[in-house]
Amino acid sequence: MRVEKEADLRNYTTIKIGGKASFLCFPATYEEIFHAVRMAQDKGLPVFFLGRGSNTIFGDYKGVVIMTREFKEIKVRRKGNKVFVSAECGVPLSELVKLAVNMNLRGIYRLVGFPATVGGAVAMNAGAFGCETSQYIRSLLVMTWDGTIERLSAEELSFGYRSSPFPQMGIVLRADFEFAMADFDVKKEYQLIKERRKRTQPINMPTSGSTFKNPPGTYAGQLLEKVGMKGYRVGDTALSDLHANFLVNLGRGKFTEVIKVLQEAKKRVYEEFGIELEEEVRIVESCGAYGR
Ligand SMILES: Cc1cc2nc3c(=O)[nH]c(=O)nc-3n(C[C@H](O)[C@H](O)[C@H](O)COP(=O)(O)OP(=O)(O)OC[C@H]3O[C@@H](n4cnc5c(N)ncnc54)[C@H](O)[C@@H]3O)c2cc1C
Repeated sequence: MRVEKEADLRNYTTIKIGGKASFLCFPATYEEIFHAVRMAQDKGLPVFFLGRGSNTIFGDYKGVVIMTREFKEIKVRRKGNKVFVSAECGVPLSELVKLAVNMNLRGIYRLVGFPATVGGAVAMNAGAFGCETSQYIRSLLVMTWDGTIERLSAEELSFGYRSSPFPQMGIVLRADFEFAMADFDVKKEYQLIKERRKRTQPINMPTSGSTFKNPPGTYAGQLLEKVGMKGYRVGDTALSDLHANFLVNLGRGKFTEVIKVLQEAKKRVYEEFGIELEEEVRIVESCGAYGR
């Protein structure tokens, strides 16, 4: 297994900000994943499973980052008006979206436009435009921290808004989904969503997507806009002037700047509305065993 020491993480996240990880591992088999986890446990270091890094910002991380990108197998089976897809954790979510457009499948095409992996989408229960990843899961193949590999059915798992039992429970190795054929033109709706994203989100800049979760009954972006955070900038890190809840890197953004922007945003929203914003983006520093 390839292992890099003191690895620069900047290029492994979509916002392209990052410090260094003590170890960055590129396993290609499930045994190698466990080997990397054991190495971390032996050294007393925390573990972070990394997909596409599209919801993750690293500081310096004294821990072991385990990349999932080598796990790319996908199997598709059609039965009547149902399509069953089994995808390994490193499969790009865009492949499921493409499949949905080509096969005219309901729901999942709505997740067009964000650069996730299947594992990251399951762990975050990623969602958009009324569709969440967990809605389509039949079962997951999971490796727990002691190396046990088990299959868990959807009924055994509990998902919430941008939350799941992962990575706390371990790593999602493979997800099995069930999709239904649509009785409308999926491609047309997909195009509309794609255009709307382009118009309203800074998708062509280095970004980590939504920074804060939407508090119950309201939108983080609206609250941030009301307190003047749209376009707020510290150095080369800013909340986008297109969408106040999207953190962007304007050039040489730094982790310390990220923290300052987040602190200011939370402070202003709390002072004005009494609402404590909670990060959706995973901020990963030295502390925090087994990722967050
Ligand atoms: C332009 C843009 C637009 C976005 N729009 C949306 C949106 O509309 N809706 C939305 O929900 N998100 C959105 N996001 C955020 C992001 O794409 C999602 O959260 C996505 O699911 C993260 O996937 P990832 O593979 O990049 O995960 P990472 O950022 O690599 O990891 C995220 C978390 O998942 C865990 N994880 C990753 N893989 C595994 C695994 N195999 N097993 C266990 N845990 C794992 C990590 O440890 C980490 O805690 C957007 C991001 C960008 C850049």
